[in-house]
Amino acid sequence: MKICFAASECFPFVKTGGLGDVAGSLPKALAEEGCDIRVFVPLYSGIKTIDHNLNLIDEFQDIPVNIGDKTVNFNVWYGTLPESEVEVYFIDCPVYFHRETPYTNDNDEDERFILFQIAVIETLQRLEWSPDIIHCNDWQTALIPVFLKIKYKWDKLFENTSVLLSIHNIGYQGRFSSGSIYNSGLSYELYYPEGPFELDSSFCFLKAGILFSEIISTVSPTYAREIQTKQFGAGMEGVLETRKDDIYGVLNGIDTNIWNPKTDSYIPFRYTSRSLKKKIQCKQELLKGAELEFNENTPVIGIISRFAGQKGFDLLFPVIHEMMSLNFQLLILGSGEDKTENFFRELALAYPQKVNTYIGYNNKLAHFITAGSDMFLMPSKYEPCGLNQMYSLNYGTVPIVRKTGGLADTVKDYHEFNENGNGFSFKDDTPFALLSTIKRAVDIFGDKKTWKKIMLKGMNEDFSWKHSAKLYIDLYKKAQANHII
Ligand code: ADP
Repeated sequence: MKICFAASECFPFVKTGGLGDVAGSLPKALAEEGCDIRVFVPLYSGIKTIDHNLNLIDEFQDIPVNIGDKTVNFNVWYGTLPESEVEVYFIDCPVYFHRETPYTNDNDEDERFILFQIAVIETLQRLEWSPDIIHCNDWQTALIPVFLKIKYKWDKLFENTSVLLSIHNIGYQGRFSSGSIYNSGLSYELYYPEGPFELDSSFCFLKAGILFSEIISTVSPTYAREIQTKQFGAGMEGVLETRKDDIYGVLNGIDTNIWNPKTDSYIPFRYTSRSLKKKIQCKQELLKGAELEFNENTPVIGIISRFAGQKGFDLLFPVIHEMMSLNFQLLILGSGEDKTENFFRELALAYPQKVNTYIGYNNKLAHFITAGSDMFLMPSKYEPCGLNQMYSLNYGTVPIVRKTGGLADTVKDYHEFNENGNGFSFKDDTPFALLSTIKRAVDIFGDKKTWKKIMLKGMNEDFSWKHSAKLYIDLYKKAQANHII
């Protein structure tokens, strides 16, 4: 099966969150299952072509695309995903992609990703490569099925091409003013109240994508159900209702070559479930670096996150002092909203013996915290899949999570009636529920035998892509069967 995988980020070239990890690992797993897969991603200025051994394709230079009244040119570079033969095509358009961050609030954010999507299609044409499936991801690629079925309908190359649109977070929808339709070159005919392009008086890329794709998926079974409700649908639940028979949830996998305590080159001591002393040595080193005292009986709780409202850290605010009276240390790595950054900065100042905060993005430190911590905290309000809890489980770092989305699908609460638990979870979105769950975890940490049992449960689970890659192939087949002409 020939798959074109289009995404706005792809690890190790560019990553801001889980989508980057998925785009860097799922295609490899699909290739192992026999798919012929090519990945498409924008060439942001942060991607150093020399470091990643990328080459400009001579014949694919200065390709013009009309964006509204402008003509913008792009080039195409070529590389492969590390340790694989999966081909990656980079859409190079400096006017749009040489910015400080992959995503911006700039006025031309719509134009940037309109260009990207058209460029993917134009590159496929020049490659004369006819994919069976285009696997689109989030709003930045959600117009591709619309372009295929309207603007490029004439092209026989795409006659049998179907689209699977994966939603990694329904909170991000690509809503723009109606002027953006002009930029896309699409017709205003489909823009009218409650029409295919319209949502709350905006031109909504994600809505259009949901309506024009053969199949829609999201990144965990629980989240697939949640987004069809008013509470989690972020205004898109009505649109999803019209496609309810075509929505599936497939749990993300993790790249076990990159996130594996046995082989991880970012951590000072590598370990397995049979050499857990080395994990304790990781903890010692981690605390040394954070200038906190090591005590084997004091658990370290790690946090690695984007600081967005979704991640639920404001649940900590009202109970923080009560929480800090418990016996644990806290290591925080993250960046995002000012109020959360400031909260964690101030917490480190108020509790210098217990807390260390690193504001920023640091991949190596993320691996080190995952290995060196005893527990990992994710109190998310909603969580489409979440990867950190799966990394933590495989590193013997016991997750404490709110029971939502992919967290509910991967973390089973340990308690006296469920000795098969691999972590701790709470349902109520309240500070009290969070506090009492942390208390429970800290108490059980004191019971070394039980704690080890919980750790081993997670370490022995298989979160690799193998199973989910097969489920995606089933969805690709469903998309082909659903093919809209
Ligand atoms: P989301 O996509 O909502 O941010 P996920 O749990 O799906 O959440 O994926 C987050 C990914 O980003 C994980 O690989 C995590 O380790 C990484 N990450 C998040 N914040 C940071 C940070 N400050 N430094 C390094 N890695 C980070």
